[in-house]
Amino acid sequence: PEWEKKVRQSARVRSDHGHTVLVTGGAGFVGSHVSAALKRRGDGVIGLDNFNNYYDPELKRHRRDLLERAGVFVVEGDINDSELLRKLFDVVAFTHVMHLAAQAGVRYAMQNPKSYVNSNIAGLVNLLEVCKSADPQPAIVWASSSSVYGLNSKVPFSEKDRTDRPASLYAATKKAGEAIAHTYNHIYGLSITGLRFFTVYGPWGRPDMAYFFFTRDILTGKPITIFEGPDHGSVARDFTYIDDIVKGCLASLDTAKKSTGTGGKKKGAAQFRIFNLGNTSPVDVSKLVSILEKLLKVKAKRRVLPMPRNGDVQYTHANISLAQRELGYKPTTDLESGLKKFVRWYITYQSKSKKKSSW
Ligand code: NAD
Repeated sequence: PEWEKKVRQSARVRSDHGHTVLVTGGAGFVGSHVSAALKRRGDGVIGLDNFNNYYDPELKRHRRDLLERAGVFVVEGDINDSELLRKLFDVVAFTHVMHLAAQAGVRYAMQNPKSYVNSNIAGLVNLLEVCKSADPQPAIVWASSSSVYGLNSKVPFSEKDRTDRPASLYAATKKAGEAIAHTYNHIYGLSITGLRFFTVYGPWGRPDMAYFFFTRDILTGKPITIFEGPDHGSVARDFTYIDDIVKGCLASLDTAKKSTGTGGKKKGAAQFRIFNLGNTSPVDVSKLVSILEKLLKVKAKRRVLPMPRNGDVQYTHANISLAQRELGYKPTTDLESGLKKFVRWYITYQSKSKKKSSW
């Protein structure tokens, strides 16, 4: 059938050492960039995404269209659909799974808590069940989050720090995901790498993230709200540019060891890793707004309010020495240069030439 033909074509590897990768969340922000980068270097790539409407699905469809032009087929489906996953694994012997599908964002949990459980816990288990039984078993790299550090007050965050006090349901599901992933590694021999991303931003980014809606609101003259912590302390994020995150993802795939099980049975100890992928230079949200004002040449209408208790933490800051040592991970884009690229993309995308936007 046509579907199978498309899947096979998209999974074709063009280089001698190429991987065959299933990218879940392939039409998402990070997933689409990772898929494009893998394809560019000759790997076989299949995307999977349910195109949910957590944010504008049209943006996801535009990312998908660009990927299809680059030779990556994004299958429309859910990670909870075991039958679909098994069908994909029947058609393609995936060497790796890059698992980026999730319910992201911390505030939305107040409206739709179940979506976090469905995608970040049930969906993860479903995917791992299929991976464990696959022959060969793929190596798995998946997105955890810096949010697992939660109410930890020690900065910068390093992988050994405590993660037992999540501040949001999102963080709790990511933390649970790490425990679940560890179990599948230990019992079934799946090779698993968890990546704790720190506030990823850039072109084709997520409209629910502050840098994105600040840009939109500054341009349309709408007031923007900046939160401050207790005692008027600033709120800061270790903003990390998408290209740096993509490099970290690719290095994680390339250094992932093979899984040691077959058909659900473990044959030996398998690799389990967790890495911070951040930028090591937190920036205050008020400074973020100043940079945007400079790039957009428009003054923002600022409003400062105390930080509500809605799941956000006051400060994030990554210690990346482990990723530096083991993955050769070295972020190279500072916030102003990265935002410049985002703003350029945003303006083009909003203009009539939407469809002509490229990576
Ligand atoms: P995104 O929302 O743009 O991408 C996720 C994609 O997964 C979306 O396209 C969505 O439609 C899809 N999806 C969601 N649930 C699904 C399901 N059940 N089945 C199939 N597809 C589903 O988010 P992103 O920013 O690209 O994030 C990618 C990953 O990185 C997520 O796991 C997220 O939690 C994690 N993360 C992101 C950031 C960040 O700053 N962007 C920070 C930390 C962690």
